[in-house]
Amino acid sequence: MTLPFSASNPPTQIFLNNQFVDAKSSQKFSVYNPKDSSLVCDKVPLCGEDDVNAAVDGAEAAFPKWKKMPNTERRDLLLRFADLIDKHSEELAVLTRITLGAPYESFGRFEGSMAAESFRYYAGFVDKFGGESYPQDNGFLKITRHEPLGVTAGVVPWNGPLGTVGLKAAPALATGNCFILKPSEKTPFAALALGHLIQEAGFPPGVFQVVSGDGSTGALIARHMRIRKISFTGSIPTGKKIQQMAAESNLKRVTLELGGKSPALVFDDCNLDNAVTWCVNAIAANTGQVCFAASRVYVQEGIRDQFVAKYKAALEERAKTIGDPDAKGTIMGPLVDESQFKRVMGFIERGASQGNLLTGGQRVGDQGCFVQPTVFTDVDLDAEISQNEIFGPVSIVNTFKTEEEVIEKANATEYGLMAGVFTQDINRALRIASDFESGMVGINCVSLTMMNTPFGGSKQSGLGRECGRNALEHFTEPKTVMINLTY
Ligand code: NAD
Repeated sequence: MTLPFSASNPPTQIFLNNQFVDAKSSQKFSVYNPKDSSLVCDKVPLCGEDDVNAAVDGAEAAFPKWKKMPNTERRDLLLRFADLIDKHSEELAVLTRITLGAPYESFGRFEGSMAAESFRYYAGFVDKFGGESYPQDNGFLKITRHEPLGVTAGVVPWNGPLGTVGLKAAPALATGNCFILKPSEKTPFAALALGHLIQEAGFPPGVFQVVSGDGSTGALIARHMRIRKISFTGSIPTGKKIQQMAAESNLKRVTLELGGKSPALVFDDCNLDNAVTWCVNAIAANTGQVCFAASRVYVQEGIRDQFVAKYKAALEERAKTIGDPDAKGTIMGPLVDESQFKRVMGFIERGASQGNLLTGGQRVGDQGCFVQPTVFTDVDLDAEISQNEIFGPVSIVNTFKTEEEVIEKANATEYGLMAGVFTQDINRALRIASDFESGMVGINCVSLTMMNTPFGGSKQSGLGRECGRNALEHFTEPKTVMINLTY
């Protein structure tokens, strides 16, 4: 059976208590296709307080039974849901593509598989995240249990509308929490369509719900007195507001996955082709709309000319694959919408006075939000394009002489999500890996993530971690039980 939704019939109801229902709020928002700026839908519900309250009521009612569901049943539900995501991967990708513009082969397939793998990975943890017991040294046996938090929520961005759902919902549900999802107002459809798969997998009503809306809906979630945890992925300014709202309301737990300005350090002794391949993919994937994109490349002066020539040629080759995201063979689609297009073009225009344009810099075509991969060289450390996340296919390339000098430059931003170093010298690589101020480091690779290792940023790039065992810790709290054995 196929999903009851399609590009011409996207979901326009929210998903509460295992039913698609009309939102109580009469407000709607519109979404557009970034390949030609045509209207996709003007009837997406902008959920208000009554809708968020209804979701919380449903989740609270479901929680007592859900947290006590036998492990094997919960595991099987997550596995069935993962299989359903895989089965409907292409349909879900279409629902994302009509507003994100990401081609299936280069992004949609990857994203669907990332979401499905999250549910499989955390299904495996359902009966393996036990507590601890401590020595009976003083007449007491002490045990700790990892207790679910109750009603939890995920507020996600538009650049990975399905992948980010898996990273939040899977550990939340695996540990016995109920979960309310709020997708981005730019890419609401795949998340809403998941409701159909939630029903089919057999989740009890209220366990996994989806409300659509914009920042105002996200703020209702962040301020809600009965939501105990918010896991947020998005920009740093919004992340700060969320932390503030969480603190001012009920001190709900907060995980923040925020922006990046990730450096890649390319040393004279590296495998040049390997370094070029990773650096190109790191800034071109998803049209540069990737939080851990290597957008600052530092090349040691001995191989500067070779690196720059190959990097430029490879990006110009990639530019030939820009086109209609629905067409076969397209690797790079447009930016997500006109506001993002204007933002990226603004950085490019101002960048012209901050560095030397190596390649790109132009819009592609005369409609839609297509932009060439763009590189500036010799940019000052304090320039706007050195210090700000552009979130498009725009990078800077600078030269360095020594390890000490480049480490200082690499760390000289407020971001700290990912960093990469390319060298054949393992001692240097490990030294630099320890000196980087970042949550993740790649040696002879950059801008990548693994399901079983912590994902997240240091400094202003985030708070807490997703993936691996860490995500389970962020969706539970230890409860200490002391048993008096002398009574
Ligand atoms: P954004 O902060 O504008 O929005 C993200 C989500 O927050 C959306 O669902 C939005 O509706 C909601 N929101 C907006 N204002 C809110 C408010 N006041 N209260 C509560 N919710 C609110 O971010 P974006 O433009 O959608 O995404 C791009 C950003 O996300 C980039 O900075 C990127 O680096 C970051 N990102 C980070 C990661 C990561 O894992 N570190 C992954 C993907 C994207």
